[in-house]
Amino acid sequence: MQYIGRFAPSPTGHLHIGSLLTAVASFLDAKANGGAWLVRMEDLDKPREVAGAADDILRTMDAFSLHWDGEVVYQSQRHALYRAALEELKRKNAVYPCYCSRKTVQENGRQGIDGIIYNGNCRFRQPNNPAQKTPAWRIKTHNQVIVFEDKIFGIQQQNIEQEVGDFVLLRADGEWAYQLAVVVDDCHQGVTHIVRGSDLLLSTPRQIYLYQQFNFSLPEYAHLPLLTNAWGQKWSKQTLAPALDLSQKEQLLQQVLAYLNLPQPIPDENCNALLQWAILHWDIQKVQPQAIVCGG
Ligand code: GLU
Repeated sequence: MQYIGRFAPSPTGHLHIGSLLTAVASFLDAKANGGAWLVRMEDLDKPREVAGAADDILRTMDAFSLHWDGEVVYQSQRHALYRAALEELKRKNAVYPCYCSRKTVQENGRQGIDGIIYNGNCRFRQPNNPAQKTPAWRIKTHNQVIVFEDKIFGIQQQNIEQEVGDFVLLRADGEWAYQLAVVVDDCHQGVTHIVRGSDLLLSTPRQIYLYQQFNFSLPEYAHLPLLTNAWGQKWSKQTLAPALDLSQKEQLLQQVLAYLNLPQPIPDENCNALLQWAILHWDIQKVQPQAIVCGG
């Protein structure tokens, strides 16, 4: 079996315990399956990006002996690929320009599972004089249920038309939406297995829908349990996840391996030896979907 996995951090801050869990699990799953493990910096969201964070993340991964294969890919250098993908969808009449303001979308839509469901105004009634405004581009969704089996969360299903609505691929301000960029990149990089945080579980049907539009073959999915603070909030930059203390890196790695249900006792070794041991003992079926409360 050919296996290409990846870790795709957004350089919005330091690596924290939650992103370490994702990095370690995607690395172990790739290596235990004799696969390659790629790293892609998802640096499309310029306002949220923190200067120096991408290099800091890579240095931290190196410190944990999480060594990736090939060159790091930066989304900010791949606009031409996203543009070509959108052009393909335009040719297929699968997308349409949307001139509605954020306010109109909010006022006329209804609440969905991941934000407001667009009421489809521009899909059915194109404005007469659109030339003065740069549109966003939305994909047409259809009344169809997308079903997939996640290796950790089991069977998932979603009707994207009814639960999410026609979603944006290119924003009116010219920024590419995560949903489009992630699918185009995973396809171009030949990614066969996606192991990532379960905050993205709800996005997966939208991404599968895009794979279908492009006639790309689907990857396998495994979504990891979230690590939360005592209030049940996912550790992230917004919840002030502390930076990893590299003087404690072996303990942090042991902690993460315990969350992933590696067999006890976890040896007392340096990071490289710990990872080699974990590759031999890795069993994705043992990872449980329930969120884990931890100190960060
Ligand atoms: N860049 C996303 C994040 O840091 C992950 C995207 C993905 O793995 O598909 O949350």
